Amino acid sequence: MGERNFKKNSKTNNRKIGRTIAIAAKPKGISAIHSEKEHRKQQKLLVALEQVSKTLTVEVDLHKILEDMAKIIAKAVGAKWVNFWELTPDKKAVFISAHYGMTNAYMEHSRKYPIRLGTAWIGRTVKSGKAWGTSDILTDPNLIKDLGPKWRTAIRRQDYRALLCLPTVSKRGVVGGMCLYFPGVHPFTDFEMRLATVAANQAATAITNAQIFSDLAAERNKTIAIVNSLADGIIMYDPEGRVTFFNPRAEELLWVPRKLVEGRNLADIRLQQKRRPKETAFLENIISISTLPVNDFETKEFSIAAPQKISFQVAKLPVRGVGNENLGHVAVLHDITREKESEEMKLNFVSVASHQLRTPLSEIKWALATVLNQDVGPLNEEQKNILGKTHTTNDYLIRLVSDLLDVSRIEEGRFGYVFKRVQLYDAVREVFEEISHPAGGRRRQLSFVLEKPDRALPPISADASKLRIAIFNILDNAVKYTPKGSVQISFRVSGKTLSCIVKDTGIGIPRDQQKFIFQKFFRARNAIRVQTEGSGLGLWIANEVMERHKGIVTVESAENKGSSFSLNFPLDPRDMPRGKVEGL
Ligand code: ADP
Repeated sequence: MGERNFKKNSKTNNRKIGRTIAIAAKPKGISAIHSEKEHRKQQKLLVALEQVSKTLTVEVDLHKILEDMAKIIAKAVGAKWVNFWELTPDKKAVFISAHYGMTNAYMEHSRKYPIRLGTAWIGRTVKSGKAWGTSDILTDPNLIKDLGPKWRTAIRRQDYRALLCLPTVSKRGVVGGMCLYFPGVHPFTDFEMRLATVAANQAATAITNAQIFSDLAAERNKTIAIVNSLADGIIMYDPEGRVTFFNPRAEELLWVPRKLVEGRNLADIRLQQKRRPKETAFLENIISISTLPVNDFETKEFSIAAPQKISFQVAKLPVRGVGNENLGHVAVLHDITREKESEEMKLNFVSVASHQLRTPLSEIKWALATVLNQDVGPLNEEQKNILGKTHTTNDYLIRLVSDLLDVSRIEEGRFGYVFKRVQLYDAVREVFEEISHPAGGRRRQLSFVLEKPDRALPPISADASKLRIAIFNILDNAVKYTPKGSVQISFRVSGKTLSCIVKDTGIGIPRDQQKFIFQKFFRARNAIRVQTEGSGLGLWIANEVMERHKGIVTVESAENKGSSFSLNFPLDPRDMPRGKVEGL
């Protein structure tokens, strides 16, 4: 039956409405001019359409929307039953998802035995995207033949004579169909067809929206599940500073339940703390995190003391919308307690071990010097030679231990700076004299020169003993890595900067390794070849000391040609370090 049926049994009017071919069957003998009755009916149908639109805007539950629509349409066109059909997950068949007036048995039957696409009326409708129907199923039993005996029994029980099926078409294509059923013979008018088509299209919109909604909800749930299972704490703030999201890990790390902070800004949180100090004991933690001075995309270390000691690395990340609008920011709390503890243990170990080693090494140095000076008896050349080498090795060990101690003190923030006015030339001269002293054992084919400035240099603000360490490390390297040639020390004032330049004609630093030389324990490959002894700590310490002096170390070098290290100090009092005592 279907299109063929309409053509055969009635005056047929094939017309495209939207993507649907509507087949209107006008009853014989009714004039084209609308009677008063017809007019009233059409008005009723239009009102129904308006009601249908309303259900779309008021309801969010798809099932409820479709049931309401089915009811309104049924009442408006005088259909006994109206139902909506939905595609099975494999998209090969359809079943009833919502209805008005049908028996539940019929609906259940459709779930159990979905109608294959391309069969019967609804299957053809959904497959072709066109309307299919008949004003009297008895005059064309062909389509029913598509269905098995079970369906035929179900249809007989449902007992209808006329039906019209329309596809529900959205942007995603045909998403299902809608059918109207009449118990008696029912010729469908053009107006009924149009109305049903519009209603079907609206239903399709509702179905698509519901799908988008459920896709979005699924995405959101996925995102929430990911964020909730992160090992890092996440706190999200809106642009007004209100906490909009607080994941379970943040609750755990800060010992603050979500309900105490979500939706609240800092002022609200403080107010709560005042009102209920007992229950909100750890709200202080969230206040501290929220007020931590950290710039966008930067991280800062932060520790809480109660209820247990936890150290975090807090990263602040701005959150931007699709149109780059400001949506606030997130704080990511990364627990670094274990790393911190093991770092502290390592530092402690190095510091204790170095302390313990320093005294015996000094005693060995003293004993070796006494024997070498022949204060306790004469030595033959071989003995002198062996003891001389032992003395040098012992000196190296003392330097290494002292470097390690300096590193651990710097890292623990216990280097204790005291800034005073210092004459840079005097400080450099002292170190120069120590290194060039013949007892240093470095008499080689080296011209080691300190240039005296023409005029007195402006003073700098420095901690003399720490400054000495930095200068020593730079001068010592220049001499150490210049087997022959020259090391020249000069001074320059340019603008608001005073520089001490140490230029050597030594082994130089390979270009690709220059960026690493200020890292702890780094030694360039050519340096390891000429000087097997070396810790790779000297420049790291010098750099740290210079940073505390608000100065910088720069280097220019070419392999096999030489290096030029420059220690640059600020001369403007506003840029100088203040006379602050730090650490122990
Ligand atoms: P160390 O001298 O104990 O190896 P440093 O931290 O003082 O450690 O120096 C790090 C590395 O930088 C050296 O191993 C060497 O490769 C390079 N370096 C430093 N100063 C010079 C220099 N004047 N000439 C050539 N290489 C140098």
